Amino acid sequence: MAKVLVVEDEPDIRQMLVRQLRDSGFEAMGVGTAKEALESVKAEGPDLILLDLMLPDMDGLEVCKRLRRDPVTERIPIIMVTARASEMDRILGFELGADDYLTKPFSPRELVLRIRRSMDRQVPAPTNGDLLVFGELTVDVPGHRVLVRGKGVDITATEFRLLTVLARRRGRVQTREHLLQEVWTHGERDEIDVRTVDTHVRRLREKLGSAADLVETVRGVGYRFAAP
Ligand code: CA
Repeated sequence: MAKVLVVEDEPDIRQMLVRQLRDSGFEAMGVGTAKEALESVKAEGPDLILLDLMLPDMDGLEVCKRLRRDPVTERIPIIMVTARASEMDRILGFELGADDYLTKPFSPRELVLRIRRSMDRQVPAPTNGDLLVFGELTVDVPGHRVLVRGKGVDITATEFRLLTVLARRRGRVQTREHLLQEVWTHGERDEIDVRTVDTHVRRLREKLGSAADLVETVRGVGYRFAAP
């Protein structure tokens, strides 16, 4: 389920948007300030951000700029939301890399359409039926199999989850904290820390052999599955 972060300081509008998104099958969460938004993006790793232009503590454009400057967040699609069409000129003038723009009021249908479209523009995983194919590496998701140059790789369930989480969000840096949240269960997380992620990535790379370079290290931040 795709996760959408709604950044909107008007509580009524925020709640309405979160509700509409949930009704449309998204996982949605809302925050009311730029500060919360920047924290939440790091902690939650949303798949898309719906960002209001006018926020109490910081201009939405500044938030957008900061997200684009940070390698962890630079590729997350952002839809800027404005209250007036006249503000659109200001947004477009900045060219900060928002993926789309919406002017209030908009219908739930339009909102969902725009979100789907922005997400579709993300680098899609090349698929061959249920297989994810990345050069020498093939991941058979339903079959829980990994092949390198057509040969099966002996991979643990944890390594498989780690690989698929990375591959599904390829091109985007994922922090070790985020990987810990996504790959390990709540109970397991009590026993381990982020260094465990490094250990598993190392083992995964060893097993991937000639395809190991697909899992890139982003120093001091986390890991990224290579995008073309
Ligand atoms: Ca506002």
